[in-house]
Amino acid sequence: APIIVWFRSDLRLSDNPALHAATEAGSPVVCLYVHEKPQHDLRPPQGAALWWQHGSLANLNQSLKKHGGCLHALAGHAGEIVEALAETVGARGVYWNRRYDPAGRDVDTRIKTRLRERGRVVESFNASLLHEPWTILNRAGSPFRVFTPYWAEGLRQGDPESPLPGPKKIQFASLPGPLAERFRYPAGLDPDPQDPDWAATMRELRPRGEEGAQQRLEAFLDEGLNGYADNRDRLDRQATSRLSPYLRFGNISVRQIWHAMVARQHAGALKAMNRDIEKFKSELGWREFSYSLLYHAPALHRQNIQPSFDAMPWRRDKAALQAWQRGRTGYPVVDAAMRELWATGSMHNRARMIVGSFLVKHLLIDWREGESWFWNTLVDADPANNPASWQWVAGTGANAAPYFRILNPILQGEKFDPDGAYVKRWLPELAKLPGGVVHHPWTASAVELHDAGISLGDDYPHPIVDHDAARKRALATWKSMRGS
Ligand code: FAD
Repeated sequence: APIIVWFRSDLRLSDNPALHAATEAGSPVVCLYVHEKPQHDLRPPQGAALWWQHGSLANLNQSLKKHGGCLHALAGHAGEIVEALAETVGARGVYWNRRYDPAGRDVDTRIKTRLRERGRVVESFNASLLHEPWTILNRAGSPFRVFTPYWAEGLRQGDPESPLPGPKKIQFASLPGPLAERFRYPAGLDPDPQDPDWAATMRELRPRGEEGAQQRLEAFLDEGLNGYADNRDRLDRQATSRLSPYLRFGNISVRQIWHAMVARQHAGALKAMNRDIEKFKSELGWREFSYSLLYHAPALHRQNIQPSFDAMPWRRDKAALQAWQRGRTGYPVVDAAMRELWATGSMHNRARMIVGSFLVKHLLIDWREGESWFWNTLVDADPANNPASWQWVAGTGANAAPYFRILNPILQGEKFDPDGAYVKRWLPELAKLPGGVVHHPWTASAVELHDAGISLGDDYPHPIVDHDAARKRALATWKSMRGS
């Protein structure tokens, strides 16, 4: 009798514990993907992330074909689909790799119970984290609310287990004709937009799937990691790994990244310094921490971790929200980042912090508006990292940044994009401005504006809020929240 391997955010063959265990068990396998429907807190990917997911599924299907099988897929409710398929093929068991969002876990628990009642084996595995969220706890046995002690405990537990090799041979179960037809990938969903082809730039930037992930990792270990600690905040340099969408959809596992880096370090084959390596590890640690928050805070994308912020007087300002979304706030570094996001589905971490702070603090718009825009536009839109980071930026979260931390978009631009190269790349209308004024074009002289061919207010907007006034308003508002 076959074993069904239910793929979710683990779209790879190597270091895939569920697939590995199923092939080792000696049973033929049925590889399944379910396009789940959104319901209550269950949040299937949208927009750009959905596009990334489609590419990853197509890649997985190709890899399975090379092994003589294929991916089966269907859209609908996971419970109904998995249970019905298990019944129809007389499955011995169903294996999957765990997910950590509470709504997804509820679905999985219900399926597990019903399958077991029918005598089927259900096995679940950790494929996406260094540490299971319930294994990193403080002395009182509670989850950490602050990153530094959380990560100290994570490091204390040592290196994660070694990654598993990819399967040498997979024995596939064959589905009867009509069933195979019904479950044929992509199961009625159009994987790539054509008209309009809004993903063209994203497609050019990087290949989706397992091989693309491995190439990106190799390139980063060869070139990018060296100097990471110093350069990672620079907007005008590509100094980070750009692995996030691959990690999000499991085209690569964090264990594979960790062990590839450590193995090279031990072999003396890394140019990078220890501080680069430790810094990079700690960024992977932030991802773990976000997952721990998601696991322990059921509605991370909906509810303030600190309930006192429920009384926050957020402003409902559609025009300001739209200006932010379209990159027309009049603050060049904010606008460049928002346009980069729209064009590429990606945004530098420093830029995410700047635009997040601007939306929440300068515009006093609810962080959930930002979270939801990112959820639709980022290729790496992640159920843990996205809401956890937004709550961090807004100061409503666990590891809240001090409330008086209001990033100044002018100084941030000057510090992390000193020549204005990043801004000029994404705002071509400012390309001819002298570097000295590019982060605050309203201070340019009439001659400078004329020479650069810009009419402020027409070609590029005036700032939609005054920085000093917005800063004062935010300080007063956050202060009152702290008091409440
Ligand atoms: P690198 O610097 O190379 O880091 C390596 C990996 O570590 C990343 O791929 C990512 O998995 C993890 N990581 C790095 N920084 C963080 C962080 N601050 N928090 C959690 N994990 C981190 N990251 C997402 O993956 N998905 C999101 O939806 C997301 N939304 C964000 C929203 C906001 C408002 C902010 C401030 C940050 C968000 N991040 C998110 C975190 C971070 O910006 C991205 O992970 C990072 O920019 C990805 O680029 P990279 O792969 O080159 O990162």
